[in-house]
Amino acid sequence: MPRPQYEMQIAEDEPTEDYEGTGMDESRGPLEESGCTRSDDSEEEEVEDAVAEDIARFEESFRNINKRYRLINRIGEGTFSTVYKAEDLLYDHYHNDWDIDARLATRWSSPSGHPHRRRQARYVAIKKIYVTSSPLRILNELELLHDLRASDSVCPLITAFRHADQVVAILPYFQHRDFRDYFRDMTVGDMRLYFRSLFTALRAVHANGILHRDIKPTNFLYSPQHSRGVLVDFGLAEREGTDWHFCDCNLPPGDRRVKIENSVYAYNLVNNANQPPSFPNPKTDQRPSRRANRAGTRGFRAPEVLLKCTSQTVAIDMWSAGVILLTLLSRRFPFFHSADDIDALLELTAIFGKRRMRETALLHGQAFETNIPSYSENGHGFEKIVVWCTNRKREALEEDEREACAFLERLLECDASRRITAEEALAHPFIASAGVGSGGDEEVDMVDLRVE
Ligand code: ADP
Ligand code: MG
Repeated sequence: MPRPQYEMQIAEDEPTEDYEGTGMDESRGPLEESGCTRSDDSEEEEVEDAVAEDIARFEESFRNINKRYRLINRIGEGTFSTVYKAEDLLYDHYHNDWDIDARLATRWSSPSGHPHRRRQARYVAIKKIYVTSSPLRILNELELLHDLRASDSVCPLITAFRHADQVVAILPYFQHRDFRDYFRDMTVGDMRLYFRSLFTALRAVHANGILHRDIKPTNFLYSPQHSRGVLVDFGLAEREGTDWHFCDCNLPPGDRRVKIENSVYAYNLVNNANQPPSFPNPKTDQRPSRRANRAGTRGFRAPEVLLKCTSQTVAIDMWSAGVILLTLLSRRFPFFHSADDIDALLELTAIFGKRRMRETALLHGQAFETNIPSYSENGHGFEKIVVWCTNRKREALEEDEREACAFLERLLECDASRRITAEEALAHPFIASAGVGSGGDEEVDMVDLRVE
């Protein structure tokens, strides 16, 4: 008996506000398996009790969920959802074409000619989407996941249920480790493998004309042991070219402003890009703000998102991937901390310099100016930044770190049209050489991460 794809109905409603995640504080349920440090046993017990209560409440409120799934643990608490690990009690009643294990068994056989072994229990992740989420957003996430179901590097949607105003998405459970537990120890060789897996996922997503919009470590479930990860969380994703409904499309082009601050001011050029910009007084300027989709997580937003470009492309995901690489090389997480977009532009100015920021703003029909004297005109290279962050002398940089810094230039390229694509990144020597000398990984790519 085939399992229906969607067992839910969603009513239309107004979209919610953009996501302002911090990139580090979400997604860690107190009992997440990847391990958080606990100060003592009683604290641990308290947390366990709270999780047990939460699970009991969920089972009680969501009719019949426990007939299909045995809830095991709470594994994530994000901005939009709580995620539980559960055993799929009715696995054998359905066709499971989402099951990588089953797919691999038919596509490949082991060297001995036998199909891959079967698992004893089937684990799923139940994503309980908060009832405050916009129905349109929920539908969008489920539809995009469904569209991407053929990609092994994107977490597929098994099915979804609705009870009253509560929607849950059912996903295969993926074994992974918490980024914060391993990012400091990653060698450049490990980074190559991590990014090969991430770019494989992004190539599939982008080939479908989809922007993920929220690339960050907690949305890429990676297993260092298997050098493989899957992309999750399409809650903010959108199709490329989506006519964003918050955009003030009726405003004349010279009449849109980014934001006013004392220290930095980025706004649309008045009238004609060929004329020297005239700078209205930020305090008295009455023109309405420019509006563009800026959904994403702070610290991971590309310059074109911060500058409110209204035609954003899949290149925004490649920038976010670059922020992850910068995090790994500098051993600093999160690397950027800014509370708002103006501060975020300043953080970028500290790295790229005022000249590059002015040029980048111009690309989006904006002017960028700051009166903060400490920012240099030409910025700093990534080698210098990595050396500073890791308290070393420049000569101490290894050859492969220099190679990584050169590759990073291609990801953290302020001009989105010149930024490397996922396809190009996979062919780049930095990534193409991943795994060389470590025994190859054809087999590794096939490993099923959902085995307990
Ligand atoms: P949110 O939109 O609330 O951020 P996510 O889809 O990112 O929700 O899930 C939150 C967290 O739950 C993830 O960071 C991860 O730790 C865990 N998680 C989500 N999906 C899975 C899955 N399929 N397998 C294992 N863990 C998952
Ligand atoms: Mg998330």
